[in-house]
Amino acid sequence: MSRSAHPAGPRHADVLPEGHYSAPPTDLNALDPKVWARTVERRADGVLTVGGVGVDRLADTHGTPAYILDESDFRARCRAWRQAFGDDADVFYAGKAFLSRAVVRWLREEGLNLDVCSGGELATALAAGMPASAIAFHGNNKSAAEIRRAVEAGVGRIVVDSYEEIDRVAAAARELGVRQPVLVRVTVGVEAHTHEFIATAHEDQKFGLALAGGTALEGIRRVLAAEDGLELLGVHSHIGSQIFDLAGFEVSARRVVQLMGTVRDEFGVTLPEIDLGGGLGIAYTAGDDPLEPADIAKTLRDIVERECAAAGLAVPRLSVEPGRAIIGPSAFTLYEVGTVKPLEGLRTYVSVDGGMSDNIRTALYDAEYSVALVSRTSQALPMLVRVVGKHCESGDIVVRDAYLPADLAPGDLIAVAATGAYCRSMASNYNHVLRPPVVAVTEGEDRVIVRRETEEDLLRLDVG
Ligand SMILES: *Cc1c(COP(=O)(O)O)cnc(C)c1O
Repeated sequence: MSRSAHPAGPRHADVLPEGHYSAPPTDLNALDPKVWARTVERRADGVLTVGGVGVDRLADTHGTPAYILDESDFRARCRAWRQAFGDDADVFYAGKAFLSRAVVRWLREEGLNLDVCSGGELATALAAGMPASAIAFHGNNKSAAEIRRAVEAGVGRIVVDSYEEIDRVAAAARELGVRQPVLVRVTVGVEAHTHEFIATAHEDQKFGLALAGGTALEGIRRVLAAEDGLELLGVHSHIGSQIFDLAGFEVSARRVVQLMGTVRDEFGVTLPEIDLGGGLGIAYTAGDDPLEPADIAKTLRDIVERECAAAGLAVPRLSVEPGRAIIGPSAFTLYEVGTVKPLEGLRTYVSVDGGMSDNIRTALYDAEYSVALVSRTSQALPMLVRVVGKHCESGDIVVRDAYLPADLAPGDLIAVAATGAYCRSMASNYNHVLRPPVVAVTEGEDRVIVRRETEEDLLRLDVG
């Protein structure tokens, strides 16, 4: 059982067997291009730069901790996905990974569409000028007000997730005198993660309508029966996260296409679209080998074409929903070291000025990260460290196991790579710690796109 999942909560300490750790890297000053944003490099004086700006200047200007976002890296990833999938497919960036108005504008400029899953994300998308027609609205319990707002705005698609929601969207559309395009979210019994997937008949989860037992087919029947309010575009499936092996998509696409074949046979309707969701993995450590968008696109296309040929169906328009794979590698978190506490024979605890409030993934998912000393280089020997935050909670771990130079000292800047996805977007105010800013850097310019939270912000909500 993972430590963080212990029902009694995290233990205060875990003493792991000797030899548990991988060997230290040969060069602690090296920055693995797999895990760092594309423009990251070391200046002659050893300081890490991104977009041509040194982290020394970024820390001086914006303080620490801060999320530093490499805009050109983000845009390059958007373009790679866009080009890989081409004009007969759509790429919806999953906004839950990280969303801000600047990001929405970049997405638009790079020709991507956008997934939102709450009224707040929808408001952000619309406020930044994303055309409603390029927005897909997700969620397993959208409120009546959220649905109405989405229909009124004219979102391109609502992904319906339950029988109740089919009725609610239809009612809102009728009231507003429109026909709302929808996809039906189907759970196909495939759960994928890293190099594994499991395929069962039934999936024990809250999302979607189950293929098993005919639930999804009945949902589709209901959507078709509500044709005065709903226009059925197709079927949606999302199978997991941090996926490196596309074999799970093979099974999910087959099951979805078979369902589309059944829909044609039973209802005489050929559905024009198929959405295979997101979940593609990125490199958090040197051991991870993510797939390139071009390879992902080719494999998914081949799978869909093959399954459609087998089912005698015309090939539907394909859409995908990468979140992490686009924004994840584009940002790192910059921290200042506060304390360095060696525990004889165990490891050294390095405390930084943030923690689980700016990165909950380590505590929540046992996620792994790479960390580097970035305000200088060092020729000191490697020491085994655990990077921890400043919260009153022993599970407050940012990087569980890593090596940093043994001369690490308070005041040094360290950076944790690949924190663009699910870090700022999952950030909290635990201990009334203020959420860090997001600073976009490109071509020698740095610019705050989400400012640091202030005590005033906190007290504004506390009405006393
Ligand atoms: C979370 C989610 C995504 C994005 O997942 P990533 O792992 O960030 O690619 C896409 N689609 C749906 C429906 C999701 O719930």
